[in-house]
Amino acid sequence: MSIQSFPNSEVALGRLVVRRALPVRNKRMIGAWCFLDRFGPLSFGDEKPMDVAPHPHIGLQTVTWLLEGEILHDDSLRCEAVARPGGVNVMTAGNGISHAEQTPKEHSSKLNGVQLWTALPEARRHGAAQFEAIGEVPRVEQAGGIVSVFAGELGGARCEAEYFSEIVGAEVEVHAGCQVELDLRADFEYGVLLLEGAAWLEGELLLDKQLYYLEAGGTGVQLSSNAGAKVLLIGGPPFPEKIVMWWNFVGRTAEEIAVARADWEAFRRFGDVHGYVGPRLAAPPLVKIAGQRVDQAY
Ligand code: MN
Repeated sequence: MSIQSFPNSEVALGRLVVRRALPVRNKRMIGAWCFLDRFGPLSFGDEKPMDVAPHPHIGLQTVTWLLEGEILHDDSLRCEAVARPGGVNVMTAGNGISHAEQTPKEHSSKLNGVQLWTALPEARRHGAAQFEAIGEVPRVEQAGGIVSVFAGELGGARCEAEYFSEIVGAEVEVHAGCQVELDLRADFEYGVLLLEGAAWLEGELLLDKQLYYLEAGGTGVQLSSNAGAKVLLIGGPPFPEKIVMWWNFVGRTAEEIAVARADWEAFRRFGDVHGYVGPRLAAPPLVKIAGQRVDQAY
């Protein structure tokens, strides 16, 4: 099996520095997954490490999976939910939603997790926004480890959260001195990111700050660890549509992105987030989208 790796980049999210595993140079998507940020692990005192003021999304789902800590979500549908380890929050933007994400007042002083986005397919991306919080995703013991499935199905466990493409997302815990064999679907491509500890993927040591990519065609993969590890596995059939991503928007053309930006700046379309005290985020200036210059007049 050919395994390629792509280095993560570093991005400042307010005061929080995160590692971006997707999109990166030469790897924009894996299945419908178009974005993967890794934050933490970190311990904190009086500060509020996660503090993302209200901002809009279109054309995507945000998926928050935590290993430790808590994140409070508030959105323009008036959904409020605290994400915690073992559960998943899935927000479907459709034609437009706004939300804020912050460390709640009551917290464990820890932050450690990932946020992913899926690109919505054409048939769903213009539809209504929705938000789903699942307190406990299926957690399945397997020989050598435990699989927690937060998207799609793996190892006989299926997550009930609603997704709109064929997809998989899971945390695989490999016990010390063990190996885990995962069945893969030949029509899926996959990504692997080391979350904790040290592990080998098909005998190759997983380096920190690297996303590993497995082309479609494989039917199984082996993870092993000496001292125990946690690994993120994502996948799906290669996404059949060409997307344009800019700021918090996923669309198909520069024009529709520019319209979404203008709607946010004009307080149209996205609603208000009531559960956040403080100003909302301003959209960055439109200069280029997907290498194309954009008319600033939108
Ligand atoms: Mn967001």
